[in-house]
Amino acid sequence: MQRSLVVANWKMNGNKLVVSQLLNAIKNGVNKDVNQANKIAICPPSLFLELTQQELVDSNIFIGAQNAHPQNAGAFTGEIAFVMLKEFSCSYVIIGHSERREIFAESDIFIAEKFAAAQAHNLEPILCVGETQEQRESGQTESIVLGQIQAVINEVGIEAFAKAVIAYEPIWAIGTGLTASPEQAQEVHAAIRSFLTEMDQTVAENISIIYGGSVKASNAEALFKQSDIDGALVGGASLDVNEFLTICAAA
Ligand code: PEP
Repeated sequence: MQRSLVVANWKMNGNKLVVSQLLNAIKNGVNKDVNQANKIAICPPSLFLELTQQELVDSNIFIGAQNAHPQNAGAFTGEIAFVMLKEFSCSYVIIGHSERREIFAESDIFIAEKFAAAQAHNLEPILCVGETQEQRESGQTESIVLGQIQAVINEVGIEAFAKAVIAYEPIWAIGTGLTASPEQAQEVHAAIRSFLTEMDQTVAENISIIYGGSVKASNAEALFKQSDIDGALVGGASLDVNEFLTICAAA
């Protein structure tokens, strides 16, 4: 069975001082209080990856990136490549976050290319999937979420999910303060696991399926009690040390 994983997605927040302070506080808090059988990863803005690498050098906390481009080099102004992330000790990279899908119009195919490029450089993709409020209300949650996963499987094959994480992130719950109830989240996580089981039972049993969408100290424990919720992708609450450490301790 997979170890639990809590991932901090700091999005486009912070500056050198704030990042340094947050990393030190998390590092100290984790070493003292958190069960190291569980994994923690921090995804800072890319400009702060080097600082993150320096600050976390003696810790068990993993480093992740929020995005990268599938090509290794070339005329892609403003982009960074997966191969570059390896120079900053990254282990994970977030792929297909709803903000990338919606604001930057990333397609399923492009997301699948990124997934493959991440793995080609030994980075574990955290594939985000999730439905809008309208899709949920019209009963399409499962078909949307499983369709987003299928689109990646079509390109990379089910076996690629042996080294990947899936983050179920209902779009209506991201940054809104609304959280899926533990039962709502569990229902989708179970559907994802059973969908994967039909293709590869070992992959389905071992993959971490984490939940994201307004996870905070007050709701983390109830979410983590669900049998198919293996951790969390945390946005806003990961910028607050006490909130984040409480979530990590609950995992
Ligand atoms: C996210 O951005 O992945 C996220 C889950 O954000 P928040 O926790 O703020 O809803």
